[in-house]
Amino acid sequence: MNGHRARKRFGQNFLVDRGLIGDIINAVAPQAGDCVVEIGPGLGALTAPLLDRLDHLHVVEIDRDLVARMRRRFPAERLSVHEGDALAFDFASLPRPTGVRLKVVGNLPYNISTPLLFHLADAAESVRDMHFMLQREVVERMVAEPGSSDYGRLSVMLGYRFVIDWLLDAPPEAFDPPPKVHSAVVRLIPRPASERQAVDEAVFARVVAAAFAQRRKMLRNTLKAVIPDAGFAALGIDPTRRAEELPISDYARLANWLVAAGA
Ligand code: SAM
Repeated sequence: MNGHRARKRFGQNFLVDRGLIGDIINAVAPQAGDCVVEIGPGLGALTAPLLDRLDHLHVVEIDRDLVARMRRRFPAERLSVHEGDALAFDFASLPRPTGVRLKVVGNLPYNISTPLLFHLADAAESVRDMHFMLQREVVERMVAEPGSSDYGRLSVMLGYRFVIDWLLDAPPEAFDPPPKVHSAVVRLIPRPASERQAVDEAVFARVVAAAFAQRRKMLRNTLKAVIPDAGFAALGIDPTRRAEELPISDYARLANWLVAAGA
């Protein structure tokens, strides 16, 4: 890998499958004036073909050696290299013309992908779309429907914020070194405010977290501290149902009941 030893602690599995790289770039469909940020550019497998189609690109990379390589390889006018942890990076503050929202791209380090998705969900207002390579199990959880064993807090919180499409599959051999798991590429497009029904999204997040803390228990028990039986009755939601059975819209209704009740 051009003299770089892959660092496990940074989740480094570099994309080497040319066909797959082309498919990802086509899915991202970058256009010259777009404002794009890539998380974890690594050795540049996606960075170089993205830059072929863009005027300018931002990247966020934690590995100091890879940061130095990026700076040597690409001119600063074309590539802004932000050294640091994507989990602490303020995506919303990236400079861009008024009205232009960000495209976010990344073959994400799998060890931090779930917290990173939550971090980016908080910046959704500034985002146009996101394309990520993730561990396939994470993608299965993201797109899971109520009633499935994969349906959980991640499905509800991300499904509430984004329309999520599973685009591509990637076997371990597409990477060097190959990871132990299969991977997949997803697209996330933020939902407009009109589709998001929770009047207070912090309360919504709190209800979802409480319900899934014990996913197989009845909601009457997991939400006992916040929603009485009268609340379930008013909404027509059976309190003996379990977190894993309830659709996203019902979580929003429970949260709104709680806000209206002044709790
Ligand atoms: N994009 C390259 C590719 O497809 O070949 C590399 C992908 S590799 C799976 C993940 C990349 O994310 C590595 O370059 C790694 O150093 C970087 N990385 C890991 N943790 C990070 C973090 N917390 N913030 C920013 N970058 C991180």
